[in-house]
Amino acid sequence: MTDAPAHGFDTLQIHAGARPDPATGARQTPIYQTTAYVFRDADHAAALFNLQEVGFIYSRLTNPTVAVLQERIATLEGGVGAVCCSSGHAAQIMALFPLMMPGNNVVVSTRLYGGTVTQFTHTIKRFGWNAKFVDFDDLDAVKAACDDQTRAVFCEAIANPGGYITDLDAISAIADEAGVPLIVDNTSATPYLCRPIEHGATLVVHSTTKYLTGNGTVTGGCIVDSGKFDWSASDKFPSLSAPEPAYHGLKFHETFGALAFTFHGIAIGLRDLGMTMNPQAAHYTLMGTETLSLRMDRHVENAMKIAEWLENDPRIDYVTYAGLKSSPYNKRVEKICPRGAGGLFTFAVKGGYEACVKLVNSLEIFSHVANLGDTRSLIIHSASTTHRQLTEEQQVAAGAAPEVVRVSIGTENAEDLIADLDQALAKATA
Ligand SMILES: *Cc1c(COP(=O)(O)O)cnc(C)c1O
Repeated sequence: MTDAPAHGFDTLQIHAGARPDPATGARQTPIYQTTAYVFRDADHAAALFNLQEVGFIYSRLTNPTVAVLQERIATLEGGVGAVCCSSGHAAQIMALFPLMMPGNNVVVSTRLYGGTVTQFTHTIKRFGWNAKFVDFDDLDAVKAACDDQTRAVFCEAIANPGGYITDLDAISAIADEAGVPLIVDNTSATPYLCRPIEHGATLVVHSTTKYLTGNGTVTGGCIVDSGKFDWSASDKFPSLSAPEPAYHGLKFHETFGALAFTFHGIAIGLRDLGMTMNPQAAHYTLMGTETLSLRMDRHVENAMKIAEWLENDPRIDYVTYAGLKSSPYNKRVEKICPRGAGGLFTFAVKGGYEACVKLVNSLEIFSHVANLGDTRSLIIHSASTTHRQLTEEQQVAAGAAPEVVRVSIGTENAEDLIADLDQALAKATA
């Protein structure tokens, strides 16, 4: 199947990007385990290296198995193109790389995956980039943070770990006004629950490690381009609008139009940063995407049942799931993620830090791991693990206070998960 936007999500998650293998007729996408591709002749090779012809040269840049996954995720997100890479964190660097120069900044939400807070607080400074952390519920503060050195605005659609929902329409309006792209990390929501491009996002990034793969087998990342941003409207984005010396003065935006960011991501980003997804990982993630909607429906159904049960349990202080009527984010579910608020939330156990640690140690079905988006139910005490490098103030702002645990609700039987939580809470609060 090539391009058939009329098809529904369940059809596209199986077929988009894939066609029977032209060499063998293989129905499933083969794992093209190859480093290089034979050129037809010297002219063909020269045209490929000059970006005058699109084709396969070397698997650091492009690979047929990875290409199917790129087309599939781009289709599911409603984008024009996508670049896959080695991890979600790689995707974040690859998304910022064409936009930022030393001295530039990105305006980011305080409610982010803990590793992203660390990457943006410390590591990107080595590139001369800076992140300005702002409460994205305070729209005036977001607006005020955008200055003439800002080159992007960054947030998560459903924010890890608390399951907070970002008002993407309001944030994208602010980014538009500032003349910079909005980058949305859609890892926790997936394109089944939320389509950030429909809410004004320019770029969507994923950790495909999570729900897109769905079973905790491989790490991967992806950047999807909406194709809607005018990179030449100002002089802010010279990597995309000005002549590129490494390709004989080619201008990416002028040459590739809506696909400028995607081509830059491959021809410069993967070529020079080398954060490439391998074809085995692409295979596992392709397998995962085939059942995405089925799994997400069950994740949401189970999360709702368990959040309601916890909220009514006297051993629990509060539950942050946005699917609950009591959540301040509940009113955003219908607008931003109408099929449900995802499978991720935190809850506070009476008894604080100590009780959280005992709870985690006492669970039998839930696994204590630093991952999310698995078919298995997972739990972690963020303050002592993923958000450990953060100050207590940052932990609270990120929704990872010491008295809360984060759960990623799996697709098991909800009553089994509730029974497991019940017995572990009894031990934790005894
Ligand atoms: C896991 C995760 C990341 C980082 O992805 P990796 O694949 O682990 O590098 C980024 N954002 C969110 C929301 C995540 O859950």
